[in-house]
Amino acid sequence: MNYDTKHDIIADKINWADRFSPTIDVGLGWLPIIDRMVDRFNESGIDYTMLQIKEKFGGLRVYFTQPATANSKLDAYVSIACREAEETCEMCGVSGQEVDITNGGLSGFWMRNLCFECGKEWRRE
Ligand SMILES: [Zn+2]
Repeated sequence: MNYDTKHDIIADKINWADRFSPTIDVGLGWLPIIDRMVDRFNESGIDYTMLQIKEKFGGLRVYFTQPATANSKLDAYVSIACREAEETCEMCGVSGQEVDITNGGLSGFWMRNLCFECGKEWRRE
């Protein structure tokens, strides 16, 4: 399955605030993490609204709204996803200790969470 297909399947499951720009702005390696998080969101029965899912400074960021009466379930699901992303290469999805925070460019501006191999590719570009 290519990136766009996988991205669209996951994006379709999400209750977006703005249905005209349903974008999950992360690399292929993190899509399975997002997929699991979205399933947990949907199974919770909590009436959330997703604003944005993206990578920033090498970490996963998830912005959403939820009813004031909701408990902290969804926040916990986001925490799990962010921890998984910390240990997973954003490009290829390799997990474990191979992951390295690679600074491939200008003073941390392009910091991404990549494994050693993907980090080498990134620097070459
Ligand atoms: Zn990788």
